[in-house]
Amino acid sequence: MASNGHKEDGIKRKREENSVSELTQIKKKRSGEDEEPRPGTSQDLVPSDRGFNIHCFIALQLLGRGSFSEVVLASFPGRNTLMAIKVVDRGKSKADIIRRERRILLKAQDCPFICHLYAAQQSADRAYFITEYLSGGSLAAMIRMCGSLDINHVRFYTAEIACGLQFLHQRYIIHRDIKPANIMLDRNGHIRLIDLGLAQDGGVPSKKISGVTGTYRFMAPEVLCEKDYDAAVDWWSLGIVVSWMATGQSPFYHGSSRRKIIKSITKKKPKFPS
Ligand code: ATP
Repeated sequence: MASNGHKEDGIKRKREENSVSELTQIKKKRSGEDEEPRPGTSQDLVPSDRGFNIHCFIALQLLGRGSFSEVVLASFPGRNTLMAIKVVDRGKSKADIIRRERRILLKAQDCPFICHLYAAQQSADRAYFITEYLSGGSLAAMIRMCGSLDINHVRFYTAEIACGLQFLHQRYIIHRDIKPANIMLDRNGHIRLIDLGLAQDGGVPSKKISGVTGTYRFMAPEVLCEKDYDAAVDWWSLGIVVSWMATGQSPFYHGSSRRKIIKSITKKKPKFPS
């Protein structure tokens, strides 16, 4: 199984900005609607929208930026609803990765704990994923703001993330990039896993996969040691996320040296503050 490449925390840090970047070609227009827009649902895009013109959307604000993409808050004229559009630069991300993310998002439509895809489209140089808008922000932002979360919130979020992972694993999908930045909250405070760009599907329970993929400080030792691995790597990452939620830090070395992160995870015992 091919690796999707290394990702460094420093490179991957999202910059949440309030302006729409020049990178996205979606034109910003005035909606002219007085009523407060509401988060969209899958009902807001009917099957005929599969042939939608991406330029019909009104881009409102940049929501976040990843290594391969920008995510823009947008509304659809006449429907007064809000959606998130992930704009992937096809020059940076390979076609098979884009196809796989779309395929896995479609397989995950029935899970209430995974971001819902409404439609997807490609142009010569970009791919567009129209998804639900997750207005509650990310766990990363929440931990940054609060330092750590109270134990009831830790339990609740952990249970919902575990349900999302079980759903994926039952369908032989391994997420491979579970971390607070990829765990969002919807407007009702429920968990939604995002960013299935590094996920691997199509396996069978007995078959292990390989590839050093994910975000170093959340990667399991077997991934970092370049061994074959299975869905257990997602549970490892969830363990690190639980530590971040409960204490605001990793149980391993949490500085910025990649070498020390790898050494700490592969050789040292985790340290839990009292
Ligand atoms: P990565 O570098 O981790 O691979 P990526 O390019 O795949 O990132 P995403 O992680 O999917 O991009 O999205 C980038 C950021 O955009 C997220 O961290 C989040 O802040 C924001 N975002 C993504 N999807 C949504 C959504 N549906 N609603 C609101 N914000 C979102």
